[in-house]
Amino acid sequence: MADAAPKAFVCGHPISHSRSPLIHRYWLAELGLDGGYDPIDVAPHDFADFFSHMIRRGWIGGNVTIPHKEHAFRLAARRDAAAEAIGAVNTLWLENGEVVGGNTDAYGFAANLDAGAPGWSSAETAIVLGAGGAARAIVFALQAAGIADIRIVNRTRERAAALAQLFVSGVGANSWSELPGLLPSCHLLVNTTSLGMTGQPPLEVDITPLPVGAVVTDIVYAPLETGLLAAAHSRGLVAVDGLGMLLHQAVPGFERWFGRRPQVTAGLRAHIVADLESGR
Ligand code: NAP
Repeated sequence: MADAAPKAFVCGHPISHSRSPLIHRYWLAELGLDGGYDPIDVAPHDFADFFSHMIRRGWIGGNVTIPHKEHAFRLAARRDAAAEAIGAVNTLWLENGEVVGGNTDAYGFAANLDAGAPGWSSAETAIVLGAGGAARAIVFALQAAGIADIRIVNRTRERAAALAQLFVSGVGANSWSELPGLLPSCHLLVNTTSLGMTGQPPLEVDITPLPVGAVVTDIVYAPLETGLLAAAHSRGLVAVDGLGMLLHQAVPGFERWFGRRPQVTAGLRAHIVADLESGR
């Protein structure tokens, strides 16, 4: 009975670029589940209305993306600990008739490194390039993993300082010009800026000073191998691309809505890579 099948959404503005429908529909088909997952373009001034009518319109929850993550945070009846720390909600589900919000970006980031760079969390010092919304989730993930010294390096130093201050201790802020001096003691380098993404300026960082054994990861996944990751590969460092973060962050939401925990497999990855390479 199609009408009774659970259905979830991803809402944002714009939304046509989102790969989330491809991911969730892949899992629904793979697991043979009766359910739906639809992209919905919701303009900022319509989001509160969309949110308040979500249950009545038959949705069991969904993902929230730019520019609605902070608005969803404010509207949710309750939030999980990650969302509270990150100040943004990317996943909604129902509990006792109320809409609850969570944030799975930190989980996705950590799960991607668990898969691509086992042992990554033994790093003593990590550098996070960028101080935007994604950086906040990643600093939270790094602290949760036990990394004691985290440096946020950002073009706008004040923004890095404001982000660092949200954490009680262990997080510092630096300007871009200080980066070369920080790299020799960095065990994990994370790019969270939009630099290096298709259509954006390149990320110009000389990673020569990084120590042998350092892990480099880029949350930009278009292109899959960014200039930063190419440089890490050519130095023989462990390099982890950002697509896995996107795939892993989808797991907890799918499990909440459809009752089965899906796997991030090579098949799923190939499915999304094919879409990325189609250039849509
Ligand atoms: P955001 O809030 O807009 O932050 C952008 C960051 O990039 C800021 O730190 C900004 O520095 C920096 N930046 C932008 N242009 C720059 C330039 N020309 N020179 C130096 N720094 C520059 O964006 P976000 O939401 O954090 O997302 C950042 C990137 O992560 C995007 O490419 C997004 O697609 C990607 N992402 C990937 C995943 C995943 O699952 N793999 C998840 C979330 C986001 P200022 O503060 O100085 O402006």
